[in-house]
Amino acid sequence: DSATQKPTLTILLANPRGFCAGVDRAIKVVELAIEKYGAPVYVRHEIVHNRYVVESLEAKGAIFVDELDAVPDDVPVVFSAHGVPKSVPQEARRRSMIYVDATCPLVSKVHREVEYHFSAGRHILMIGHAGHPEVIGTMGQVEDGAMTLIETVEDAENLHPADPDNLAFATQTTLSVDDTADIVATLQRRFPNIAGPKKEDICYATTNRQDAVKAIAADADRVIVIGAPNSSNSRRLVEVSEKAGCRAILIQRAADLDWDWLSGARTIGITAGASAPEILVTELIDALKTRYDARVELRMTAEEDVIFKVPPILRDVA
Ligand code: SF4
Repeated sequence: DSATQKPTLTILLANPRGFCAGVDRAIKVVELAIEKYGAPVYVRHEIVHNRYVVESLEAKGAIFVDELDAVPDDVPVVFSAHGVPKSVPQEARRRSMIYVDATCPLVSKVHREVEYHFSAGRHILMIGHAGHPEVIGTMGQVEDGAMTLIETVEDAENLHPADPDNLAFATQTTLSVDDTADIVATLQRRFPNIAGPKKEDICYATTNRQDAVKAIAADADRVIVIGAPNSSNSRRLVEVSEKAGCRAILIQRAADLDWDWLSGARTIGITAGASAPEILVTELIDALKTRYDARVELRMTAEEDVIFKVPPILRDVA
């Protein structure tokens, strides 16, 4: 029996992993928009940061573009889950376009906080990663210059605001919980009157996936994270695992795996970023099973039951 020749392997499967409620909703928004308006439907920016998802939606009639300029006036356009600067829906309205906003409600909540602080006359510190579409979208809720990006504890230490008693902070939803706590603590020490959320704006899905990967990293020899290189929450899962003492790697799908990297490992942890579909996890487990006599063990650290309704404009087809 050739199966007995294979080395044994324990796979620790993190739970929760993969799709969050915001990603689920964003994909549904594109599918429903195609159903309601017919193909093609344009999508500004990758709807979620995952090639597999983007290609599946392209096959159904979605066309992905970087900017609104690339969308004809008379074709519906969807805005991605990461959120968009205010100028984008403004421009769409100016051109009388039909648009559907797939911004995750948990990102929209941060947008409203930022608007509130702005209207209260505060200068807002945005904790996040430069260039990420969510950061561009959140900072684009208020006028240029009203917010300053803070990426690191050093940035927080080196900041010299004009009015230190009139500050607020907001964060990207997909940051490292631990690193962000350090940045927030630095800001609160330096600027005791700073306003902001109770902890930060990191969403439930990010928090749960980081807790789950920590739990498997403690017992695994290697951790594999399924996700895209431009997915912030997926990259954080690699960092969290490594900080917990377990070497980790980010791959888009099983075919990208460097098998040598696994050599010597008896226990492998697997998780997936919030934009990675479960089918890619199954594919990886199947690939491992061709080489190993593998046994899968589920590690559950939280239960999730969050569901977001699609925007009103699509409820007639939902
Ligand atoms: Fe929303 Fe969090 Fe998912 Fe981003 S990771 S889409 S904020 S639930």
